[in-house]
Amino acid sequence: MRIIVCVKQVPDIAEMEKMETDPKTGTIIREGMPAIVNPFDEYALEEAVTWKEKQEGEVIAISMGPPQAEDALVKCLSMGADRAILLSDRDFAGSDTMATTYTLARAIGEIGDFDLVLCGQQAIDGDTAQVGPMLAEHLHIPQITYVNRIEVEGKHVVATREVEDGYEVIRCRMPLLLTVVKGINVPRVPTYSSLSEAMDKEIPIWTAEDLDVERDRLGLPGSPTAVTRIWYPVPRTGGQVLTGEPPELAERVAQVLLNILQG
Ligand SMILES: Cc1cc2nc3c(=O)[nH]c(=O)nc-3n(C[C@H](O)[C@H](O)[C@H](O)COP(=O)(O)OP(=O)(O)OC[C@H]3O[C@@H](n4cnc5c(N)ncnc54)[C@H](O)[C@@H]3O)c2cc1C
Repeated sequence: MRIIVCVKQVPDIAEMEKMETDPKTGTIIREGMPAIVNPFDEYALEEAVTWKEKQEGEVIAISMGPPQAEDALVKCLSMGADRAILLSDRDFAGSDTMATTYTLARAIGEIGDFDLVLCGQQAIDGDTAQVGPMLAEHLHIPQITYVNRIEVEGKHVVATREVEDGYEVIRCRMPLLLTVVKGINVPRVPTYSSLSEAMDKEIPIWTAEDLDVERDRLGLPGSPTAVTRIWYPVPRTGGQVLTGEPPELAERVAQVLLNILQG
C-alpha cells in the first residue's frame, strides 16, 4: 500500500504576535517565523503510518513551501514516513490554492502509482480546506472529506465522515483522497532516536524543473485569487484591569459581577 501524505508547514500560533504580512501581496511573511507541522496533518500522517504498519507499504510525505519547510518533513520522517519530498522553488511563491494543488498534483504524478492521498481537513493558517478537494480533482480521483475513521477492505476503503448532524459511512475503491479530522487517532510523539535517524535521511528538493508543469500555472501568476485588503481586527478597549491579592481580587470581581447583574 502506498500512501502519500500532504503536509503543510504553518506559523506557530503560539508565536502569532511575531507574524507579519506583506503589504503589497497581502500574504504572510513566512521567512524567520517559528513554524510547526499543520496539526491536522499530523493526524493524516499518523493514520498513514498506522495503515502501513498493518498492511505493509510505503508512506511518502510531501510538502510545498520555502526551504525551512524541510523541518516539517524531518518531523514526518521521525513519526514513521519512509521518505519525504520538498517542493520548493521561487516560482512556487505566492501560490493560492489553485496553484498549490496544481503543483502538488504534478509532483504526485512524478511519484507514480499510489493507493491513498491523505490531507488534513484544513491548514490552521490559510484555513480554506480547499487543497484536499482541489487536489483530488487535479488527480481525477474520488475524495472523502472530514474522515474520522478509516477501514481498509482489500482494494476498498470504508470511511466514516463527520457531517453536521451525524456521520456518513462511504465505501470507495482506491486510489482516492481523504481529508482527516482531529480525533481520528493520537499522533505519536517522535523519540530522540527516531528524530536523529530522520535528520540523517536525505530529503530531495524538487523545483519546477523537476516537474512536468506549465509555468504560467505556478506561483502568483498562476493564482486567480487576489487578496484585495488585509487588516487586523480593532482591539477592544474599555476593559477594566483589577490588580491585587487573590482574596481581595475575588471579592472585587464578585462585586463587579453583582453590579452588572443588578444593572
Ligand atoms: C494570492 C495568494 C498568495 C499566496 N502566497 C503564498 C505563499 O507564497 N506561500 C504560502 O505558503 N502560502 C501562500 N498563500 C496561501 C496559500 O494559498 C495557502 O496557504 C495554500 O494554498 C493552502 O491553502 P490553505 O492554507 O487554506 O490549506 P487548506 O486547504 O486549508 O489545507 C488542507 C490540507 O491540504 C494540505 N496542504 C495545504 N497546503 C499544502 C502545502 N503547501 N503543501 C502540502 N500540503 C498542503 C494539508 O494536508 C492541509 O491539511 C497565498 C494565498 C494567496 C491567496
